[in-house]
Amino acid sequence: MTGYDHEQVQEFWQYVWEREDVYELADDATDPTYVLGMFPYTSGTLHMGHVRNYAIADAYARYRRMCGDDVLHPMGWDAFGLPAENAAYERASDPESWTQACIRRMREELETLGFGYDWSREITTCEPSYYRWNQWLFKRFHEAGLVEYDAATVDWCPDCETVLADAQVVERDGERGAGDRVCWRCETPVGRRELDQWFFTITDYADELDERLDDLEGWPDGVREIQRNWIGRREGARISFEVDLDGATTAVDVFSARPETIHGATYLAVSPGHDLARALAEEEDEDGDGDEDEEVQAYVDEVRDRGPDEVGYSGVATDARAINPVTGKSLPVYVAGYVLEDVGTGAVMGVPGHNERDHAFAREHDIPIERVIEPVDDANDADDADYQLPYTDHGTLTESGEYTGLETEAARERLLEDYDALEADVTYRLRDWLISRQRYWGTPIPVVHCDDCGPVLVPDEDLPVELPEFVRTTGNPLEEHASFRETECPECGGPARRETDTMDTFVDSSWYFLRFLSPDLEDAPFDPDRAEEWLPVDVYVGGDEHATLHLLYARFFAKALTDIGLLDCREPFRELESQGTVLYEGEKMSSSKGNAVAPEEYGAETTRLFVLSAAHPEQDFEWTANDVRGAYDLQQTLYGMVTSFVEGESGRSERLPRDEYVDREIDRTIAATTEEYERFRFHRAATEIQELAGLLRRYRGFGRPHEEINRRGLLTLAALIAPMAPHLGEELWNKLRGDGLVAEADWPDPGEFADDTEGTHAPDYRRERRLVETTLEDVRDIVDVAAIDDPERIDLIVADEWKYRTMEFLREGDANADSDRPGDDQRSAVERVAGALESDPELDTPTREAIARFLERSDAADARGESSSGSDSGAAALGPDHEHALLERAAWLVRDEFDADVRVRRADDGAAGGKARPGKPAIRID
Ligand SMILES: [Zn+2]
Ligand SMILES: [Zn+2]
Repeated sequence: MTGYDHEQVQEFWQYVWEREDVYELADDATDPTYVLGMFPYTSGTLHMGHVRNYAIADAYARYRRMCGDDVLHPMGWDAFGLPAENAAYERASDPESWTQACIRRMREELETLGFGYDWSREITTCEPSYYRWNQWLFKRFHEAGLVEYDAATVDWCPDCETVLADAQVVERDGERGAGDRVCWRCETPVGRRELDQWFFTITDYADELDERLDDLEGWPDGVREIQRNWIGRREGARISFEVDLDGATTAVDVFSARPETIHGATYLAVSPGHDLARALAEEEDEDGDGDEDEEVQAYVDEVRDRGPDEVGYSGVATDARAINPVTGKSLPVYVAGYVLEDVGTGAVMGVPGHNERDHAFAREHDIPIERVIEPVDDANDADDADYQLPYTDHGTLTESGEYTGLETEAARERLLEDYDALEADVTYRLRDWLISRQRYWGTPIPVVHCDDCGPVLVPDEDLPVELPEFVRTTGNPLEEHASFRETECPECGGPARRETDTMDTFVDSSWYFLRFLSPDLEDAPFDPDRAEEWLPVDVYVGGDEHATLHLLYARFFAKALTDIGLLDCREPFRELESQGTVLYEGEKMSSSKGNAVAPEEYGAETTRLFVLSAAHPEQDFEWTANDVRGAYDLQQTLYGMVTSFVEGESGRSERLPRDEYVDREIDRTIAATTEEYERFRFHRAATEIQELAGLLRRYRGFGRPHEEINRRGLLTLAALIAPMAPHLGEELWNKLRGDGLVAEADWPDPGEFADDTEGTHAPDYRRERRLVETTLEDVRDIVDVAAIDDPERIDLIVADEWKYRTMEFLREGDANADSDRPGDDQRSAVERVAGALESDPELDTPTREAIARFLERSDAADARGESSSGSDSGAAALGPDHEHALLERAAWLVRDEFDADVRVRRADDGAAGGKARPGKPAIRID
């Protein structure tokens, strides 16, 4: 018998899927389930992270389709960006051809893996039909006041005469020791330069971006936390200090998250870019010779050249003095590189006793360090108080005048009330989004610079501003194109210069999920009516490295578009599945590390099944050839079973108890697998499939199986595995003469284990499984402990009915524990149980001794954690009739394992079941 060979069948099934339009979503679909994997960057070939990402999204999309949903599952290409430009530069090619070649290769790989995309909706961001809408949206954002043109400092290579992205600055060991920052291309030390740049004012939405994270319940907590920290909302106060400079007074505002520490302020510091620093640099210094303050100017220049990360806690004292608005004390004023221009107000009040960074600065510059907050449970020894600073926690104020003795919160409130110079305020770590890139392979920013009119937006009818042909140059190729650069002003018609910066590629990915709705629309970026119907994305799958930039920008776009009136969806992604990393010998698998495994190396479908069955999507997992083998073997097992069923002799038609067992186990497996798919636990779904396959093989080996039940089991396996291994699913389904394509088949029906209401199964399949499993384990234990070589007969005895009633009574009794009948709780438990049982004339009442023994054993079992009784998670045990019927049906498993006669009996019928309890039959072995 030949095994399953994915390579031989893949093309056929891909052809059939395409012919039948299985994955195409009709434009008039109402409320489809939108499943999206983050589209790939066109970097060359697929890597294992892609495979995992898309396998998760595809398995879920296929599962939802089989459940009857209309599914939108599109794919596209994040095609702009620097790597394409670099690759083109290195290969004497151009970014466009290189990118198109990558797309062809990656698309082929995706198809080999059997991902079911609606390719009619494919989008490519480097095509003018896509990026014209980046330009159009830039204009709408501009009209809405969300775009600014402002100076910003960038890394600059003086030799290449170009701006460098973070990724193009390389750290190298040099004369100044480790950490020299050099140009990646020519190794010239990197300088800093100030350029006018375009920004999206995402900070206008900082508050909402932060606040709505709480509502994103379908997102992993970890991702929300990372994003929350990135936004960095801090409450505090804006405090106004009067600064005396050359006899004139100016006000300098600082933001403090801890205004209650103001009595401990011992200096004021401003960033080198602060207006006050500029004014100080220009001011005459103390010797009165008319020169500017060279020391301040030199420091400002140094920080600009080296960047704030490089200057540590350096700083320079100035001639200015600041007045503490609360204490009236005069404080020295510093210009300090650790104070960042774009954080808060660009100025801080230095409280070295209670802030780590201020403390480090004060130590460096011999500034006094004062303690004004003490821990509430003052366990500190006064002698080493200094040693313990900075103290950054809450506490009680000390050395703070009339506020001494107040707790921090109360002191803050009082200070805010008492002084006009202090005003409650909120600040964010989030900065505006700099979208300008001084390079070629991106969306041209639709602006023309005119000497008379300033920056003018390109009229809508002239969009798109298309990229000219690529030229190889060390700088920005757009600067080299006179025909691109030189243009006329749309406003005055005079000569003007086109903006040569392009947009950050994150602009492309901030709204691409909207373009999939109507990819060919020519008069708008997306169809608002369809967006209303189809959004938000129901499930978004991607790596958690996108927790900040992409996911934050996309949320910002949705909010801005909604406020502009183009969309009505403030949160674009309802559920986010973030996936862990595929490791190889403990390291992230990547082509740059040389430890990448190509998806097709082990067979594309095996790889796909393996990445799903190896671990929960969020977990990292280790790639091992051995585990891959497991995924391969599962495919072969299923294929072999189906082949021998089809080719073998037919089965029985009369039904035996074991057929009922297998039939119901098929239902139980469907119910369990459904739950696992719902929760993206594909690894557990794979285990369920494996176990049902094992049971069916055993069933077949035990005796001639029931034809229809056997067939139903195999069809079920084909359907359950189809979302994870779609080609195999079709092969099995087809051999078994299933109806149509499995990709379009109905998800199998779990019979009476079907969901009534969400998440509850009645009856619970888990309890049935547990009864069978624990019974088998108990028989094994007894055979083992008693060293029985060859048991002849095994009796399984279901407990007396009164024991079930007792459990029920106790459970209800627990619920009514607060009985208001006095004296009730003094009656012994045995008496109460006996009383309850006697009230039922149908029941054979046991002796008091029997009740007492049963209660003792149940307590002991509870104490051992054997949760056979109703005590586990409050669930009721199966009734005695239910247990009896189930064990009768499962008896063949015991017979099969121990090769003995098996009888299932009831204590009520006179069998010796003294030890039997609900959920735990007595076992007698002869
Ligand atoms: Zn260079
Ligand atoms: Zn003009």
